[in-house]
Amino acid sequence: MTLAAAVPKSQGIEEYRVVEEPFYLPVGDEVTLFEAAWRERIPVLLKGPTGCGKTRFVEYMSWKLARSGDPALPQAPGLPLVTISCHEDLTATDLVGRYLLSGRGTEWVDGPLTRAVRYGGICYLDEVVEARKDTIVIIHSLTDHRRLLPIEKRAEVIPAHSDFLLVVSYNPGYQSTVKDLKHSTRQRFMAIEFNYPSQALEMRIIEREAGVDPERAAALALLGYQIRNLDQQNLLEGPSTRLLIYAGRLMAQGVAPRLACETAIAQAMTDDTLLADGVRQVIDAVFR
Ligand code: ADP
Repeated sequence: MTLAAAVPKSQGIEEYRVVEEPFYLPVGDEVTLFEAAWRERIPVLLKGPTGCGKTRFVEYMSWKLARSGDPALPQAPGLPLVTISCHEDLTATDLVGRYLLSGRGTEWVDGPLTRAVRYGGICYLDEVVEARKDTIVIIHSLTDHRRLLPIEKRAEVIPAHSDFLLVVSYNPGYQSTVKDLKHSTRQRFMAIEFNYPSQALEMRIIEREAGVDPERAAALALLGYQIRNLDQQNLLEGPSTRLLIYAGRLMAQGVAPRLACETAIAQAMTDDTLLADGVRQVIDAVFR
């Protein structure tokens, strides 16, 4: 009997498998670094501004890395990827699992982190600083040599599957020290730094992801570059690659370029009228 058949689908890991190759253009040496981390099973912290490609990168790596674990599992191109968006209401129970009432009485149901630990795969905690401190603590024993997940409610300790890897993302932010990652947590990870792609690369990403022609994509990449440089005092974050893609998608839907940029970029970036005016001037200069 295969492991996949023994585990109810609602509790296994197969549904998390990344089966199609995600589009990802490498920006630096992040692919090589991640592969090395994977071979050594070193937990990875992806550091960088929002919307710069961290999530897409993990999706791509999950697809790319060959599964090395259980030979009983069906042949598949990539690893399962369990993504959890962290927020302040996320509890340890949400990650680990809970007892639920069922027709047969009370039944234990693994949470997403437990599923990755038990059956192998990448668990990606997106925006980990948003999680409460007591929630973050449960990853500590998983991120050192022990690689264990204690489940208090079941008085059980699960050793991590050989294919388990913990990856977290974190936006160090601009002028923000309130939401910093505790040293006792961050020193458990190797860190790969992300930033916005170069103008030439961003153009290719926008062209592909927004479905716009090369001229439009080039103009949007230039716009991104110029707005980022406009902000010498670091008052604003972005515009992210994601926002440039949104503007492109609006254009692909027939929205006039300046209106598309006003809506997807200027208004999305800030509520400050002065700052928005500055952004608008750059938009007007690029899309005359
Ligand atoms: P983050 O997780 O850093 O907030 P995402 O990974 O969600 O950002 O990136 C936002 C979008 O930008 C992605 O959905 C993708 O369309 C695009 N993107 C950013 N960087 C890249 C890249 N290097 N290759 C391909 N697409 C990218």
